[in-house]
Amino acid sequence: MEKHPDFSNLHVADHPLILHKLTLMRDIACTKVEFKALLKELSLLMGYEVTRSLELKSVEIETPVAKTTQPVLVDKTPIIAPILRAGLGMSEGLEALIPTAHIGHIGMYRDEETKKPVEYLIKLPDLTGRTVILVDPMLATGNSAKYALDVLVRHNADISKVSFMALLAAPEGVKVLHDSYPDVPVYVAALDERLNEHAYIVPGLGDAGDRVFGTEDVA
Ligand code: URA
Repeated sequence: MEKHPDFSNLHVADHPLILHKLTLMRDIACTKVEFKALLKELSLLMGYEVTRSLELKSVEIETPVAKTTQPVLVDKTPIIAPILRAGLGMSEGLEALIPTAHIGHIGMYRDEETKKPVEYLIKLPDLTGRTVILVDPMLATGNSAKYALDVLVRHNADISKVSFMALLAAPEGVKVLHDSYPDVPVYVAALDERLNEHAYIVPGLGDAGDRVFGTEDVA
């Protein structure tokens, strides 16, 4: 992943498979079934980069051939923290990569008037000293992501062990995180142009939650 020249915290994907799958997801013709499967695949691919800095330690094991010292993860139960609801689609992909991970849910929705996050469910494992990967497909205004990071800090997370993973970001959202949590790395598949007047990412992919769960036709 490339570090972005304008934001020291931002890593933007450059892997052809990630970029190809993202284009398929952006397309209005992408069905709910395809969108959900692609979100999982993309999260798994991105997770490969997000987990690159996980700490290793040496352990002694015995293969069928010889005794040997080999690397294993220091923390076999890192925490994946999806921001509900769209983050659930991403956490599935990451969990496929790290099946031993523990899952912490952060439920909030965006008040359509104020565009501010409203909290409705926080259910987290003990965060003390643990690696936490916060996930939400869309980093738009940055308000929800900042709020979720505040929640993690309030629940004793070591901020130096927290990273954030999204599919798409708007520069506005990246700036909010950069200003409030400059040392939290942000991993995205693409940095888009801007937000529109409804705080949707342009060109974006629409409402990620609606597209994963098929709720766009709900009144
Ligand atoms: N949330 C979404 O689901 N899509 C956007 O474009 C912005 C926020």
